[in-house]
Amino acid sequence: MTVRTRIAPSPTGDPHVGTAYVALFNLAFARSQGGAFVLRIEDTDRVRSTQRSEQMILDSLRWLGLDWDEGPDRGGAHGPYRQSERGEIYSAHAEALLDAGHAFHCFCSAERLETVRQAQQQAGATPRYDGHCLSLDVAEVSRRRAAGESSVVRMKVPESGVCRIDDLFRGAIEIDYQQVDMQVLLKSDGMPTYHLANVVDDHLMQISHVIRGEEWINSAPKHRLLYDYFGWTPPVLAHLPLLRNPDRSKLSKRKNPTSIEYYRRMGYLPEALVNFLGLMGYSMADGREQFELKEFIASFSLDRISLGAPVFDLEKLNWLNGTWLRGLDDCAFADRVAQWALNRDHLMPIVPLVRERTERFADLVAMAGYLVGDTRQLTPESFAELAVEQEAIVEALQFALWRLDALPDWERDTLVDCLTGLARDLGMKIRVLLGPIFVALSGRPVSLPLYDSMVILGSDVSRARIRDAIGVLGGVSKKQAKRLEKRFQNLGN
Ligand code: GLU
Repeated sequence: MTVRTRIAPSPTGDPHVGTAYVALFNLAFARSQGGAFVLRIEDTDRVRSTQRSEQMILDSLRWLGLDWDEGPDRGGAHGPYRQSERGEIYSAHAEALLDAGHAFHCFCSAERLETVRQAQQQAGATPRYDGHCLSLDVAEVSRRRAAGESSVVRMKVPESGVCRIDDLFRGAIEIDYQQVDMQVLLKSDGMPTYHLANVVDDHLMQISHVIRGEEWINSAPKHRLLYDYFGWTPPVLAHLPLLRNPDRSKLSKRKNPTSIEYYRRMGYLPEALVNFLGLMGYSMADGREQFELKEFIASFSLDRISLGAPVFDLEKLNWLNGTWLRGLDDCAFADRVAQWALNRDHLMPIVPLVRERTERFADLVAMAGYLVGDTRQLTPESFAELAVEQEAIVEALQFALWRLDALPDWERDTLVDCLTGLARDLGMKIRVLLGPIFVALSGRPVSLPLYDSMVILGSDVSRARIRDAIGVLGGVSKKQAKRLEKRFQNLGN
């Protein structure tokens, strides 16, 4: 069998370290077997997918050296590799399922579905579609569709019995069909859902092994059914353990920087980050902790993956990055510093902010250092000049952080709307809200223009600094967090 693996990111946000982690294991397995590694963009969510996010995912995987053999930018025999360009393929496959009686049209309104869901929840049952449109006759379906009534296509699910899926790491997993929902396959706008597109593409792209995060195990029974309905052999399934925060919760941007962009901006070497990801749930046969990608690939074996929760531990990453840095000779070190941030691309957005305020280049480091590296030395005293009580500062930072965590993009206008909106909701002067953010980002009460600074620093670095500032000020106790969350929800979040 020719091994073909894939990474199938959805371009709906920052390039996530979890994507790089899954990409690394797929790439290593494919390369170690002389196979191919495919990049497919799963952009069927037309509202949340953006071109910018797709570009950032491609750029950051490339920066890490996790290159693919086929993908939207380089083509291949099984393209197109962007799901938004494969619409007809999915509708034809949905049609085939309808013809064979494995799927049906559903006309239920969102309100009806919500009422059913609430009733099921109150009765302690698993919320799932109740089969209302399952046995509409053909004539009625045609009549309602011809009249322009909106409908979706759902898959049928056996009424009883057990679905068995085989996971390479976990063995057989059995799930009662009673727990499996009659999943929507085609939405009312004709776009496929993840489940249909993913199965059809994995088959047509001849993916032999689906290696993905554990969070997708629950989708596996639906996928298994679809493979059976189409009469296809499913690929080998292997679910990798989820990356965790040090407190063992699922790695999330609320607790840890998760964007690859953050690590790039903060001066981690790509080889160190890849090395670190290669230690997540994996150990080299000789126990070595520092290794290059090519060594990882050369000795790679799926057997060495363990299912214990791998912790994304920044202290360990810092140690490893330092080890890599010390391994560079002087010239390479200087070159890498220039590549990192002391280059024209990086300085260009900063120039318009500093030019009017500069008399000597020598002033630049003090003025703009926080935009290049991290020159902050935050202590509670850093906030003293604001003349605002510490508790109020922590609250302002926490509210701002929650709002910023939820932003769909990190454009200047969005940031202005977000923070002025928050000040208004809190009945606070904007100055009082922005002061603590200035200090959190730059270490000083007055810095270069705030919104521009936030754009230059990027979403992960900005949010990480605000999170760090809250910590410096003593953090938010559990009791305080509860009270703040309540207040935050009352603000209309
Ligand atoms: N688009 C899914 C994601 O964002 C792919 C999941 C899978 O690998 O099947 O991760």
